[in-house]
Amino acid sequence: MELVNADRRGAGVTSDRPSLHIVPEPPRAPTRVCVIGGGIAGLAAAHAVSRAAEDAEITVLEESSAPGGKLRVSRVAGVPVDEGAEAVQAARPEAVALARDVALDRDIVYPEIFGASLWSRGKLRGMPPTVMGVPTDLRALTAAGVLPMREIMKLPLEYRKPRTRFDNDVSVGAFVESRLGREVVDTLVEPVLGGVYAGRADALSLQATVPALFRELQSNRSLLKAAEFTSRGGGRRAGARQGPVFAGIRGGVGRLPGAVVADLERNGVTVRTRTAVRSLHRVDDHWRVIVNTPNGQEVLLAEEIILAVPPHAASDLLSHICPPAANDLGLMSMSSMATVALAYPSDSVAPLTGSGFLVPPKEGRTVKAANYASSKWDWIAREARTNRGGPGSLVIMRASIGRVGEEEALNVDDRDLVAATHGDLAEAVGVSASPIDYRVTRWHNAIPQYEVGHVTRVERIRNNIANVGGLEICGAALDGVGVAAVIGSARFAARQVANRINQQMAAVG
Ligand SMILES: Cc1cc2nc3c(=O)[nH]c(=O)nc-3n(C[C@H](O)[C@H](O)[C@H](O)COP(=O)(O)OP(=O)(O)OC[C@H]3O[C@@H](n4cnc5c(N)ncnc54)[C@H](O)[C@@H]3O)c2cc1C
Repeated sequence: MELVNADRRGAGVTSDRPSLHIVPEPPRAPTRVCVIGGGIAGLAAAHAVSRAAEDAEITVLEESSAPGGKLRVSRVAGVPVDEGAEAVQAARPEAVALARDVALDRDIVYPEIFGASLWSRGKLRGMPPTVMGVPTDLRALTAAGVLPMREIMKLPLEYRKPRTRFDNDVSVGAFVESRLGREVVDTLVEPVLGGVYAGRADALSLQATVPALFRELQSNRSLLKAAEFTSRGGGRRAGARQGPVFAGIRGGVGRLPGAVVADLERNGVTVRTRTAVRSLHRVDDHWRVIVNTPNGQEVLLAEEIILAVPPHAASDLLSHICPPAANDLGLMSMSSMATVALAYPSDSVAPLTGSGFLVPPKEGRTVKAANYASSKWDWIAREARTNRGGPGSLVIMRASIGRVGEEEALNVDDRDLVAATHGDLAEAVGVSASPIDYRVTRWHNAIPQYEVGHVTRVERIRNNIANVGGLEICGAALDGVGVAAVIGSARFAARQVANRINQQMAAVG
């Protein structure tokens, strides 16, 4: 609002005496925010900006035909099964909080069954408690029978070993080997890192993949003691919760993007699919965003950009905007993988123990991990029991295949992938019939590898991007590949954007 002497403007003067009128300012144009990438990072970022900055006009641009990225659900023998993420961390708040915010609170569920098995020394054995594969209880490790006794006998010597020195960061494999021996890396660490990152222990960063353990090791020279401390909740981040470690969503975690989009649209946010961002240009104080759509090329204008695409796509878009960040993002390795969901008649599957199993690479199997979806989630069990039109009661299992550097395992057609997966499952758990249905989902360049030096690299990326102005980045390439961590990075990016918008508002208001 602007207070003027109306006489001087010569407007509406009806008396001889000058009078004061309040003249409304022309409405200030809202700040245009373009979120590039409609995976859960982009959707969560748009959601957080829409909540924190009233004066924002937000558009999400997604290349593919549907938002959600790695979160997707489809049916196998009539039963919905996630194609990507099937559980979210509940020990940290972000994913569960987002689900609650978008009206999925009644559909948040927890696993019915805990405890995975490990394919070790020729058969499935109970997985002993670990922190990212580092044992936390030597008695339980002995009882599990996953390591030969001669290896277990050596482990207590670690308590008295001098500190292992490393500069800033070290690979999980090298560090654990130096403390506990190669057998622990190959048998326990590899399958866990393979499950989370589809990555390998000798490349992945201790600091980035197990930050709580890394922090504890700054003061505790014993890895076994540090792992035990961390497993009891020591070094837990602020905001971490007690209670179940993982949560799911009835109907599949793949429902989350749709619920976020519905919430965004109710709040005036535009979500455009089949809209691929081809280049970004900084012009004075705004952005020109060149997009390809089914109807041809368009130029969009924005004051703020949130980049929420996988690292190589981000690298391409930043190549002339911020070459140092583009370089760092382009250097990140990615692992490709596939998920294979199979439906079996339940009378053909031997009784299952626990929620699934992990397989160390040294076992030479196709499958690197499998979960017994219909044992783990009650909603899947119900659907599998009552799948109308289907053949009656089913067991649903979901296997994942492919680690970084093992792409050739994926270079076979779907039937061969299913046959190899079925072969591993049949041998592991005992299955006497072929699957009645299956679904193969291939995820190319799916998971960024947090290699040694990752934390420093991400700091560098953020510092370089901060110099550009009107630009933020979020997503799985930065602070964690799990859905909750990805949403955390989105909320961080959104906060920076909302703060800038609100400060501008306050400055002109
Ligand atoms: C098989 C599998 C299983 C997983 N299981 C779990 C799990 O159980 N629990 C868990 O917490 N995490 C899991 N994860 C990891 C987690 O799902 C992902 O890290 C997370 O979903 C990544 O989200 P994102 O938004 O950063 O990236 P993405 O989901 O990759 O989204 C990026 C989006 O950007 C779009 N895009 C790319 N380029 C452009 C462009 N130029 N213009 C416009 N749009 C563009 C893409 O189409 C995509 O939709 C799993 C991952 C995979 C692959």
